[in-house]
Amino acid sequence: MSEIALQTRGLGVRYGSFDALSEVDLAVKRNSVHSVIGPNGAGKTTLFHALTGTVSANSGRIELEGRDITRASDDDRVRLGIARSFQVTSLFPELSLRENLRLAAQGRTPWQALIPWRRAEASTEILETADAVIERLSLQNVATRPAGELSHGQQRRLEVGMAIAARPRVILLDEPTSGMGIDDIDGMKTLIRDLGGDHTVLFIEHNMGIVMNISDTVTVMRLGRKLVEGPPAQVREDPEVKRAYLGNM
Ligand code: ATP
Repeated sequence: MSEIALQTRGLGVRYGSFDALSEVDLAVKRNSVHSVIGPNGAGKTTLFHALTGTVSANSGRIELEGRDITRASDDDRVRLGIARSFQVTSLFPELSLRENLRLAAQGRTPWQALIPWRRAEASTEILETADAVIERLSLQNVATRPAGELSHGQQRRLEVGMAIAARPRVILLDEPTSGMGIDDIDGMKTLIRDLGGDHTVLFIEHNMGIVMNISDTVTVMRLGRKLVEGPPAQVREDPEVKRAYLGNM
């Protein structure tokens, strides 16, 4: 098996006549933490939309574990193992943290939970998966609390937990620390770093301290193109990157 979990080759996305992504080659190694950075409008969100199937590629291909998923529907991509973290707004606020995770482990989104669901449905595997994720999130002390009553930082960690619970091949996190205070940022940073040992994580992040601290690989984008890809130390010293960031790195 190749060590690359997710790969794009010559990926292009157009909005009308505007090239939002051009010729993007990305290679995300299995069980690594890979960040995508770049100034506003660089195409980071568009890249995530293309990977999840929210927008279609106009050119190039996307491969998950060597399998061409360029034309797969967004639902099929979820089934094949691409998980994008849920947003706080899509957690089921009245269910406990543990119940939210059990639903995610069953591959059921919170809105599907509106369909009558009996606790008895959950297999031992589902229960064990949810408990393992709770431990991973270090949220054992609030496992029975309704998700809606958790602090903002705990809810953001639960979002990541929901993605993990579905046992995906690749987890996409869109600015996981945005709007967080310093303590919550530290918790999220530790969580993502530790995930890299046995999960493949691709995340968009504006906080350079986090990017440089926990990434195995950094992809820098600008104006819809990949500028550089490599380990943090190499990226930080790249003259083109320094120019793009005007020294704010
Ligand atoms: P930010 O850091 O500000 O979120 P980004 O790197 O995520 O930026 P994108 O949101 O992917 O960048 O946008 C890339 C470019 O595509 C921008 O110039 C944006 O204005 C444009 N764009 C995004 N969505 C659309 C759309 N639906 N239609 C037309 N242009 C779009």
